[in-house]
Amino acid sequence: MNEPIVIIGGGFGGVYTAKALLKKSYPVLLISETNYFTFTPLLHEVATGSLLSHDVIFEYETFFHHPAFEFVRGRVERIDRAQKRVWVDGEEMSYRYLVVATGSTTNFFKMQGTEHAYVLKDVEDAIKLKNAILSKAQDKDHHISVSVVGGGPTGVEIMFEVAEMLTSLRKKDPDLSFQLHLVHANEVLCGVDQASVQTYIHKAMEAVQITPVCSAFCERITPNQIVTTVGTFPSDVTIVASGVKPNTSVFARDIILDEQGHVPVTPELQVVEDQHMFALGDIIAIDGEPVPKLAQTATREAVVVAENIHRMETKRSLRTYKPEVVGMLFSLGFGKGVGVINGITIKGVLAWWLWRTVYLFKTPGVVNKLRVAFSWTLGLFQSRNLTEL
Ligand SMILES: Cc1cc2nc3c(=O)[nH]c(=O)nc-3n(C[C@H](O)[C@H](O)[C@H](O)COP(=O)(O)OP(=O)(O)OC[C@H]3O[C@@H](n4cnc5c(N)ncnc54)[C@H](O)[C@@H]3O)c2cc1C
Repeated sequence: MNEPIVIIGGGFGGVYTAKALLKKSYPVLLISETNYFTFTPLLHEVATGSLLSHDVIFEYETFFHHPAFEFVRGRVERIDRAQKRVWVDGEEMSYRYLVVATGSTTNFFKMQGTEHAYVLKDVEDAIKLKNAILSKAQDKDHHISVSVVGGGPTGVEIMFEVAEMLTSLRKKDPDLSFQLHLVHANEVLCGVDQASVQTYIHKAMEAVQITPVCSAFCERITPNQIVTTVGTFPSDVTIVASGVKPNTSVFARDIILDEQGHVPVTPELQVVEDQHMFALGDIIAIDGEPVPKLAQTATREAVVVAENIHRMETKRSLRTYKPEVVGMLFSLGFGKGVGVINGITIKGVLAWWLWRTVYLFKTPGVVNKLRVAFSWTLGLFQSRNLTEL
């Protein structure tokens, strides 16, 4: 094979596809906007000082220590499917197969004032958010109000972590007061429609002074307020975690996208209009249905994409992928968690311990695993890191 398999996007989908292809010794060229992978499930802990930024990122070149691996840092801005080429910051690169895994961006829906919003998609966002909370909480007012828009897993986890971070700060500054609002479009938090799970989350929120504002839509964000369909609330720091949309606009003229911007793929994860092109992760819709936008689905799709490229090379029939979410676990601050695995509900310390164990094992690379384990162990004896960065 002369030309490499080009992978656009070094997130969960791209990295795990590269890993599976390199195992089969195929030449891989990974193109991504940064030179590191971000382990997003632990970002909320970076934003609140439980982990450090370097615990959750790793450099591609170190991770893929393989002669068949090449990395180019850059942004792909065009795909020429007829000539099998991509353009990276003005430079042309050829491919034998193309794999697209460019992830998603925050969906602000119709909110106004989003320039005042904080998001949590990468390490830079986490650092910005941490700095914003610390600088307001430690100013002369000794008061901060924080709102999260979006009661899905990301919104709920960051809200609990912020509550704990502010509680830690209050130990140092007893005058500090805070108000926390979690604004959610419906009544079901974390997307788990089980009464016992909902009761548990609501009780845990009450214990740490988080006020849920359910069945409400955020209409406008100002520097110190959040305007919703059910009322206006003080908010010095507003975090938007209301959902994501496919990050595909750059390819709109090169690939046919659906109305929401998903890349239509077959159950074999081939792009509908091009059998030498595969797509996976947050950007795809299989037979018209978007796939749950999760790391766990992206990593499973990666195995199928790599296997199907191998099968095409060896002229065998392709494997299909069936979207499946095995379970969901959420941390609700230190020592508390909740989740459902294979239909079984788990709550409390056990869920939290399982959550930590699962994510520790899923953290890629031995060095990062050790870093996370070390930071968490240190956190058992020492308060979180509350330095501005
Ligand atoms: C805060 C947070 C917490 C989360 N927690 C969980 C969780 O607990 N469990 C779970 O299963 N999922 C979780 N997710 C969702 C999970 O992170 C995503 O579903 C997953 O990352 C999708 O993988 P992906 O490969 O499609 O995209 P990503 O992992 O987002 O990777 C996309 C990559 O493409 C690169 N890129 C984009 N455009 C270009 C371009 N034009 N050229 C070159 N490179 C480009 C980006 O820089 C990025 O590296 C979380 C997400 C967030 C933000």
